[in-house]
Amino acid sequence: MAKKYEKKPATSLAVLKDVFGYDSFRRGQEEIISNILSGRDTLAIMPTGAGKSICYQIPAILSPGVTVILSPLISLMKDQVDALKQNGVPAASINSSMPWEDVVLIFRQVRAGKVKLLYIAPERLESEGFRAFFSEIGVTLVIVDEAHCVSQWGHDFRPAYLGIAPVIASLARRPVVAAFTATATPEVRDDIAVQLRLRDPFTITTGFDRENLFFQVEHPASKMKYVEKHVEKHTDSAGIVYCATRRDVEGVCARLREKGVKAVRYHAGLSDLERKRSQEDFIYDRANVIVATNAFGMGIDKSNVRYVLHYNMPGSMDAYYQEAGRAGRDGLPAECILLFGTRDIITARFFIAQSEDEETKKSGYRKLQVMVDYCNTASCLRSHILRYFEDENVSDTCTACGNCTVAAERVDVTVEAKKILSCVFRMAEHTNDRKYGSAMLVDVLRGSRRAQVISLGFDKISTWGLLKEYEADQVREIVNFLIAEGYLQMEDGEFPVLSFTGRSIPFLRSGAVLMMRKYEGKSEKKLKTSKQHGEVEHSELFEKLRALRMDLAKEDGVPPYVVFSDRTLIAMCAQLPSDEDEMLEVSGVGAQKLEKYGEAFLDAIAEWKEEQGTFFTDEK
Ligand code: ADP
Repeated sequence: MAKKYEKKPATSLAVLKDVFGYDSFRRGQEEIISNILSGRDTLAIMPTGAGKSICYQIPAILSPGVTVILSPLISLMKDQVDALKQNGVPAASINSSMPWEDVVLIFRQVRAGKVKLLYIAPERLESEGFRAFFSEIGVTLVIVDEAHCVSQWGHDFRPAYLGIAPVIASLARRPVVAAFTATATPEVRDDIAVQLRLRDPFTITTGFDRENLFFQVEHPASKMKYVEKHVEKHTDSAGIVYCATRRDVEGVCARLREKGVKAVRYHAGLSDLERKRSQEDFIYDRANVIVATNAFGMGIDKSNVRYVLHYNMPGSMDAYYQEAGRAGRDGLPAECILLFGTRDIITARFFIAQSEDEETKKSGYRKLQVMVDYCNTASCLRSHILRYFEDENVSDTCTACGNCTVAAERVDVTVEAKKILSCVFRMAEHTNDRKYGSAMLVDVLRGSRRAQVISLGFDKISTWGLLKEYEADQVREIVNFLIAEGYLQMEDGEFPVLSFTGRSIPFLRSGAVLMMRKYEGKSEKKLKTSKQHGEVEHSELFEKLRALRMDLAKEDGVPPYVVFSDRTLIAMCAQLPSDEDEMLEVSGVGAQKLEKYGEAFLDAIAEWKEEQGTFFTDEK
């Protein structure tokens, strides 16, 4: 099929429709494709699930010669190559686990012009033989996927990525270079262009919003119970549960299995074999839930993950958004729920404190604070995320986050807030401007007589005991809320101290009312309102098509979503195609897939219609 496009000029839109079965481009795709095709280096920053692959696959199909894609993970390459082959595009990958004979075979196919897209790991470039091959074949286009791996500022630095630019520079004819990443921080973005030596790149950031994701933060009394309930309510859906430690992975996974859930575990302490098995069970829909540390996920392309639960708060928004972003890559509604507990802050601080480097520590604490604020804010969660990534299109409210859509009970904390702020002020005044952390503040407010409180003379100040009828947790929660809303700030350090911000004094003097979301008992209510999926038309047919997809995937040895995505099956259920032309109308069905699977799915749909009686036989 790719050959066809080399001979006669085709538009990228035609390729989108014929090869991939989609009708229109998503935001940014067309611009990126036309820039690459015009020969300009490109740097594209697009959130996970936005559709990066098509942005370089279409230029690769439309350009003469070979496109080399440097990609960090074998599983990712395998997935992409499988998916391309399913769509009739000749693609191959070379990875370090392949025997040399197989590599030679692929070299031969590339030389014979039988491969349009060649996926390789950047480590390959370290081999002399491979570099020679690389310059011999005259690559037209080099794509650097997950390009943030080139930057030491980012969180996934891979030294081999630094070898890419020198190899490109050594080629007789310089190919066009296009880099893709979902990483958002400006310093990493700039660094990518420098490290890859991009030439006057067309740079595009398509915005970081993922409209189909529902964001939510919970403060449950028992995280374990919350996970159990959530998983049990979504037994038909695929989900990821991220935990901060191996121990939690073990605990949560064991509990889910006790409850009869098909759950698998994944962390760095397991053997390669078990990790691989878990990953595949999850990808091939044999397990519904994978409980994992952050070792799991990079390069996982599974498109039908319906929820990502975080059992612990990650240390930065970059990490959180990347992990949560693994939900809903197919564009269908999916949930990202973070379960927060104050203990998470202690764990995260402990990890940061291990660093020897002061700068790293400082930036670690700053990033952590963004997450803590996210967990405590009463305003729009989506806007909190997008502001962090400096997205240009941020509004103050949205239609899909826990704080905007759920009529959460709110409590007036104006009086408590004023008492807390006054106490911070009095403590500083009493000790010549020394600052203290929230533990001491809470103790003073609750009228503690512990030795340190007494020795510092805090029992003599007017704010001592002002909130003595409150539980420590309640006071802490309001303090966290004040930090999240910018009325107090946490200063850097392993033992962080609290101080006033520009908003503190004006608030103390004003008559403004401060409402905080009530956390207790909230979980139950929200679970009900946030269940958005399962709204499939003709759901029995959907199950039937899903089973068919599973059979076909097994036959072809590919993950089910490589045959068709959930989204495509849902579209089939709604459109009920009865012939090939109608089948081609379904989003995600291209010419090649029609040829391969069209009949089987048309038959299944026809059979189902018959079972429904005559209603569907003449008209839909
Ligand atoms: P990313 O690499 O940015 O995370 P992918 O390239 O995996 O995202 O794309 C996510 C999903 O969106 C895939 O299932 C892909 O086929 C689909 N997709 C990409 N572009 C379009 C489009 N223009 N119309 C419909 N679906 C698309």
